[in-house]
Amino acid sequence: MSEFDESAFRQRIRDYIAANVPNLPYRVGTRSPEDEHESRVLRDWSAQLYASGFYGADWPTQFGGRGDNYQSIEELIVTEEFAKARAPIPIGSGSLAAHALLHFGTPRQQAVYLPKIRSYEHVWCQLFSEPDAGSDLAGMRTTAIRDGDRYVVNGQKVWSTNAAFSDIGYLLARTDPSASKHAGISAFALAMDTPGITVRPLREMTGTSDFNEVFFDDVVVPATDRIGDENNGWHIATTSLASERAGVGALVIRLRQNLDALIAYVRAAGLRGDPIIRQRLADAHARVEVATWVSSAAMERRLHGAINEADVPLTKLGFAVLNEQLSYLGIDIQGIRGALATEDPEALDNGHWQDEFLYAKAYTISGGSNQIMQNLLGERALGLPREPK
Ligand SMILES: Cc1cc2nc3c(=O)[nH]c(=O)nc-3n(C[C@H](O)[C@H](O)[C@H](O)COP(=O)(O)OP(=O)(O)OC[C@H]3O[C@@H](n4cnc5c(N)ncnc54)[C@H](O)[C@@H]3O)c2cc1C
Repeated sequence: MSEFDESAFRQRIRDYIAANVPNLPYRVGTRSPEDEHESRVLRDWSAQLYASGFYGADWPTQFGGRGDNYQSIEELIVTEEFAKARAPIPIGSGSLAAHALLHFGTPRQQAVYLPKIRSYEHVWCQLFSEPDAGSDLAGMRTTAIRDGDRYVVNGQKVWSTNAAFSDIGYLLARTDPSASKHAGISAFALAMDTPGITVRPLREMTGTSDFNEVFFDDVVVPATDRIGDENNGWHIATTSLASERAGVGALVIRLRQNLDALIAYVRAAGLRGDPIIRQRLADAHARVEVATWVSSAAMERRLHGAINEADVPLTKLGFAVLNEQLSYLGIDIQGIRGALATEDPEALDNGHWQDEFLYAKAYTISGGSNQIMQNLLGERALGLPREPK
């Protein structure tokens, strides 16, 4: 750790991004490619990021990572620098699936799937949530019933980001419908072109289709594509989700960027003398500072292996709430033109604030809703009584 030169590492990432980042329009949040061209460009870029070693460095050496040489501070720095540069990160759920495969996959699965995750021959989607199973994921009803050396899948998923152009789905399904909620679930790698799968893109209020409904009608998946033991899917899913740790910290960078952009906008629009706007910006500034300190303290603890139950929910909740407030401030300051649609040619700042505002709701839901974060804070961090079911 002592010979690790942080500023040189940061500069290397910045130089890399400046020299290589594809020329695609910036869009807020986790968005799907708009068309085949964008999908191709993002696949190539994602593959490059694995090949360059900026992503997937924590994988064992035999699968292309750096194994023991890997330092988790590097993961945090990479995430931060990509957020600062607003550069796209690898698309899809390949990293999530990789962590399931690395921990629980068979040698055949690892040999077949892991190289194609790195090369982006395969884009993965995450097939967990269902219409009645989101926060309460263990309430899922999609079944995968064993029939000899295969399973037959029936049911429906929803919110499946990127499913419309994914090659493989990381699927959770109920393999023992009679078992208790968390016990009868298994995990699978499911080829998305298997007969019986219907993907329907959902049109969102942002005007884009970033997630989908996915229907399964007697879909056959070979038993060799079950990841881990039968009925151990809950453990596999939670283990792989826990491996995706670096994202939360980068969120506060987005807050700072938006606040800076808002201040620049106010200056350019000649509004800096408006006392109400000044007061609202000062208030936002104070809140963003606090969020930054909370996040930095959490990062510091994580790097030293200290566990504080409040860190992740507090950072995530603080970001989601503040991000909504800032994006609202963005359109409010624009006055009547703030109400224009994102793609309206008259929209100020190329519709950035409208897109921020419309997407801000997604952050209050994905990765655990605000209310679930509050429950975690109350019950796990503060030790308050569990909420009545
Ligand atoms: C942008 C985005 C991308 C996503 N991508 C994917 C994906 O690729 N794959 C995937 O599988 N899923 C994905 N999701 C789904 C996401 O994980 C779920 O939306 C989330 O878990 C919430 O579930 P839900 O939508 O069913 O809401 P529900 O769980 O039905 O919640 C409805 C409301 O009730 C509240 N609530 C629920 N339970 C409690 C409780 N115990 N206490 C207090 N309040 C409660 C919630 O906070 C919310 O306000 C994505 C979601 C978003 C927004």
